[in-house]
Amino acid sequence: MIIIPFWMHDRLEEEKVGEKESFCPTCDRPVTFSVVRMRRKRMLYSILKVSTKDLGTFLVCPRCGSTYHTQE
Ligand SMILES: [Zn+2]
Repeated sequence: MIIIPFWMHDRLEEEKVGEKESFCPTCDRPVTFSVVRMRRKRMLYSILKVSTKDLGTFLVCPRCGSTYHTQE
């Protein structure tokens, strides 16, 4: 069990790294996905960065907003 003190919180940081043509199963049609790299930063008192975890690269559909994790 991990206890996170109330003065610590996580912040998601997104960085758009490109675009990719692919098929969206939710829209049921091919779309141009935004390729987004996400990192989770754990902040202490909103100032001090404690740790950063790389969550990997995600494809975000601009039509329905669905997010798909990629293996790259
Ligand atoms: Zn979609």
